[in-house]
Amino acid sequence: MIMPEIIIGAHMPIGGGFSRVPKETVEIGGNTFQIFPHNPRQWTAKMPAEEDVVHFLRDVKRYQLNPEYFMCHSGYLINIASTKDDVWEKSTELLELEMKICAKLDIRHLNIHPGSHLGAGEKSGIERIAKALNIVFKREKTVNILLENVVKKGGNIGYNYAHMRKIIEACEQPDRIGFTFDTCHGYDAGYDVTKPEGIQQLLDEIDREVGIERLKFIHLNDTKNSLGSQKDRHENIGNGNIGIEGFKIFLSNRTFSSIPLILETPGGNLEHAQDIAKVKEIYQSIVSNR
Ligand code: ZN
Ligand code: MN
Ligand code: MN
Repeated sequence: MIMPEIIIGAHMPIGGGFSRVPKETVEIGGNTFQIFPHNPRQWTAKMPAEEDVVHFLRDVKRYQLNPEYFMCHSGYLINIASTKDDVWEKSTELLELEMKICAKLDIRHLNIHPGSHLGAGEKSGIERIAKALNIVFKREKTVNILLENVVKKGGNIGYNYAHMRKIIEACEQPDRIGFTFDTCHGYDAGYDVTKPEGIQQLLDEIDREVGIERLKFIHLNDTKNSLGSQKDRHENIGNGNIGIEGFKIFLSNRTFSSIPLILETPGGNLEHAQDIAKVKEIYQSIVSNR
């Protein structure tokens, strides 16, 4: 049986410029990728140099990669759920700039963590998120936002899909919001993605609250911690508590195996190449047992 191709990639370094990303993606066995649009630990970002963009776009074509499956991950400092005005304003501005960098690189999805209300309560946090999204959607008209599920700690919004529904409901351009499901965050938040029943519950919740068609990407990460630990520490594929068997069950579900899988596992390109090979092996065994 011919294996249908999975769409897979990893979080790629941008230290050497964006132009290296397509080539390195193919070198590690991927056909898509995630990148930061700038140094994620800084409040500053700049538009990429013209030469870098041209080289990047040329290599996307050269390696026959599909931009529809690329995504950027927002910086770590951004918190659009913050009820502190200065933090919220800086976050909204940087988010807008990140969207513009995405657009320049023909990347159509920007993944963010919904944010933390830092004690002000979930209701105010959700209002602040929607307010920020309404602003950036007006200022940048092409890039869509992906909301990523997180664990329940530190006032985080987005550890369940009822939160996500409330964000969509308060948003003026709900069609521009999609979702990334992170398997490590999900498992640590209490979703047992290693069991068919747990997976069904998750899919039912997503469909009921936001609509399954809004699930656009998977962050495929193993986890160092136990189910419901609310920790968020990623592990290489097969080395953590989800494990090879867990991923076999997870990827047997066609909802997950038919959307892009992005690895955010420990290490760099070398480790990610190994993880991609492991996922392909898991997928091969699923397909040959069908
Ligand atoms: Zn993330
Ligand atoms: Mn993630
Ligand atoms: Mn994480």
